[in-house]
Amino acid sequence: AKEKIYIQKFYLYLNLTKPTKFLFLSWAKVSGEGKSLRPSYLIQELMRLFPNLKPVDEEEKSWQQCEMTRRTGILRLAEGLREKEQGLDAQWKELYTWFAGDEKSRSVVEKLLRAGFYKKEAGMLGSQMAEKLYLDPERVSVTRLEKFASCAYAHFLSYGLRLSDRETYGFEAMDLGNIAHQALERFARKAEEEKLDWVTMPEERRTELIDESVESSVLDYGNTVLFSSARNEYMIYRIKRLIRRSVWALTRQMEQGDFKPAGYEFKFGSGKIDRIDTCEDENRVYVKVTDYKTGRKVFDITSFYHGLQLQLPVYLNAALEAEGKRYPGKEIVPAGIFYYRIQDPIVAREKTDEKTEESILKELKLDGLVNGEEEVIEHLEANLTGSSLYYPLRRNQNGLLGSASKALPQEKFETVLAYTRAKQKELKAEMYEGEVSALPYLLGEDTGCDFCACKDICGFDQRIEGCEYRQLQKYSLEEAVECMKEKLGIKKSQK
Ligand code: SF4
Repeated sequence: AKEKIYIQKFYLYLNLTKPTKFLFLSWAKVSGEGKSLRPSYLIQELMRLFPNLKPVDEEEKSWQQCEMTRRTGILRLAEGLREKEQGLDAQWKELYTWFAGDEKSRSVVEKLLRAGFYKKEAGMLGSQMAEKLYLDPERVSVTRLEKFASCAYAHFLSYGLRLSDRETYGFEAMDLGNIAHQALERFARKAEEEKLDWVTMPEERRTELIDESVESSVLDYGNTVLFSSARNEYMIYRIKRLIRRSVWALTRQMEQGDFKPAGYEFKFGSGKIDRIDTCEDENRVYVKVTDYKTGRKVFDITSFYHGLQLQLPVYLNAALEAEGKRYPGKEIVPAGIFYYRIQDPIVAREKTDEKTEESILKELKLDGLVNGEEEVIEHLEANLTGSSLYYPLRRNQNGLLGSASKALPQEKFETVLAYTRAKQKELKAEMYEGEVSALPYLLGEDTGCDFCACKDICGFDQRIEGCEYRQLQKYSLEEAVECMKEKLGIKKSQK
């Protein structure tokens, strides 16, 4: 071993003594993964032998001072072009002159210039092509409309060119969401078949139904990966816990009022509503919809206004129509739209079990928008005082709904529903005119590009002229409703 070390050192020595004029030694400060690196022992050895040696940090040199090869020269040329707005200096021009005269580099330099002065043109497909490509406008789903509102080009790539992620053999968060959805639906159907009420069903039967629902959903899912390892079998156990927790929370929410499930996984046009609940009194039928989500989803009025979050109001419109047919003689009243997060939250243990349960219910509280009419609130949560554990509502001491509530008076709630129909129409019209521009939205800190799978292929780069975000304005609930009214041509409300 010792001999080998000396042989290595000898080779090193031979290399170090080869140069006749200069010897440059360089070392990397960081690794490929960005971790900091220390120089080799040789550097320290040389510094000890030649105390006057001073390392120079390449990053601190201007690029004109750096040693340059053909490759790094081209990179500098490209860098200069990228910053061309600040002016191309004399050194850059000299470098360019050298490369332009260099036979070997000419074609690369030409490409660089073309790229450097590239301007992105707004794309347009034309209505004829769009109609052929997108087929039946009636089958445009809400997800698709939301995608279009986010970025027309991303929509074109997914639904026009039909690009999609390569499928991999694994168990992803989306699979968990799908199975959880199916299991909840099965549970509801089984309960319905056996004429069991969610609230009064015996605990034992509830657990059995949940276990059966999860097991058959997993079998049906057709993803054998779930049985391929002990870890994945553990996933099944987790899904069961998740569904148990969800059924418990959903039942507690139902217990508070008079609404009863009227439909599960209700299909309409090209959408599917997870749950429709209704409540009937003498003259009216109140309708609310709930969508189950596995991610952290909240209803944001600004996103809705700009067409980025249309799902719940579109679903409620469809549910209202369906219930209208079922109860022809009655007034159909929209009661609310809700997201329920399928989750098994971890909370700190409180002094009593009851308090701990309250913390869990708070975590699983429905989010959305409520029709704030007193009758509706009464039917949703009969004994509401203070902050609700179940709905995004808060009742002040004077008995009125507090400003923290996500609620609107019925007339304004109906404006939201009317605006939904108008927005759907508007987006569809643009889509079928052939709009395909890569103009992603920017709303606060969020952009359409954040989770877009097309990032590497769309060519959107803010440094390129013509690539810009579409800045969307934020609104409060009240402001958004006023804007909706304006768009719908409804007179401004008196404040
Ligand atoms: S990355 Fe951004 S610009 Fe490109 S397609 Fe996606 S949303 Fe549109």
